[in-house]
Amino acid sequence: MIIYVEEKADPKQLETLKEWLDDIGVEVHSLAGKNGTILGLLGDTHKVDVEMIQGLDFVRKVVQVKEPYKSSNRTFHPDDTVLEIGNAKLGGGHFAAIAGPCSVESIEQICDIAKAVKEAGANMLRGGAFKPRTSPYSFQGLRKKGIELLLHAKQITGMPIVSEIMDIGNIAAFEHVDVIQIGARNMQNFELLKEIGRTDKVILLKRGLANTLKEFLMSAEYIMASGNEKVILCERGIRTFETQTRNTFDVSAIPLLKKMSHLPVIVDPSHASGISELVRPLALAAVAAGADGIMVEVHNDPEHALCDGPQSIKPDAFKSLMDDIKKVREVLF
Ligand code: PEP
Ligand code: MN
Repeated sequence: MIIYVEEKADPKQLETLKEWLDDIGVEVHSLAGKNGTILGLLGDTHKVDVEMIQGLDFVRKVVQVKEPYKSSNRTFHPDDTVLEIGNAKLGGGHFAAIAGPCSVESIEQICDIAKAVKEAGANMLRGGAFKPRTSPYSFQGLRKKGIELLLHAKQITGMPIVSEIMDIGNIAAFEHVDVIQIGARNMQNFELLKEIGRTDKVILLKRGLANTLKEFLMSAEYIMASGNEKVILCERGIRTFETQTRNTFDVSAIPLLKKMSHLPVIVDPSHASGISELVRPLALAAVAAGADGIMVEVHNDPEHALCDGPQSIKPDAFKSLMDDIKKVREVLF
């Protein structure tokens, strides 16, 4: 439920209303906007006397939010959420590019790629340390050592870093990681979402392999309901009957998510296609569709990458993609 309060409302009356809502066990999120205050009510609102509140002279209107996602809902928070991550800003017109290898492999590999993507215009460095692999016989990542190497690359380039967590038991290793990724396979690991929601890290939540946008936003809701509102939504392709690509890139998810939610929306064209050649066209389509950012797998030696080589682009291709993204944004936004 949302209560729109008039601009001229007496602060004391507003405070009394908030206290009353608090007393009946409703969580109140207050947001000062251009045309007055918006009170977003969370939790069990059945005790709220809508007619009584509607009758208050300082209340403009009361709206029931029918969608099950509340905190992430655009109606709760009409303005875009803007996240600040190191020197980077994401959302509300600020575009950010995250680039780096699928997996951290060695100190030379991650530092070389970090320098190259920074030079090409990336705002953040990605690198998997704990890897969710389909086969237990595939490279599982360097785990804690991988995070240490990523931190070294952060130190030498100054770029914020992004890495995936699979088990909250490893949270201590992520102390200096700027953005914690929840991968597609864990999008509905509700216990993990609740735990990660108790941290104050920026969370990059990827859409599940076969999840609807509503389910995606409900997962963001788990994180936000635990107290962490710093969530980035990432469309990374969904499973369909098509086998020519690793996944099917759902471009309509971008404008729809931005309509449904105020959270920043980014796209991962690497996992969406599985094919390095498709990264550029999908990334440009995402930018044109209004994405707030991209996350791209970049490797200096894709042929020998320990994970996801076929979908990784080289640093020079990434540089040229960044130049093209700039052009598309200049024309459209
Ligand atoms: C990744 O980004 O490294 C990854 C494993 O992606 P996803 O969870 O989208 O498959
Ligand atoms: Mn990968």
